[in-house]
Amino acid sequence: MTETNDQMFMRMYGARRIHLVLQFHTPLVWCPMCEKKKRDVMRRRQNTSYFNEALNWVVCCNECFDEIEQHWADLWAEYYANCY
Ligand SMILES: [Zn+2]
Repeated sequence: MTETNDQMFMRMYGARRIHLVLQFHTPLVWCPMCEKKKRDVMRRRQNTSYFNEALNWVVCCNECFDEIEQHWADLWAEYYANCY
């Protein structure tokens, strides 16, 4: 019987080590907003309506994005409160 690559991988690393391996494959990326290294830094669409579509996107981590979403939610609430 020949061992598949997956079986060999499991034998060499063991299931309990898998999370370490996965972590290794998710690199730490510099978040330009909080200036920390995070694993969840990505390009995200924020809740804005800029005519220039590029301005509606930010690159940041989950934590910073939560703050950004809250910030825009507050501003939109204020905006709509003044509309009626
Ligand atoms: Zn951040």
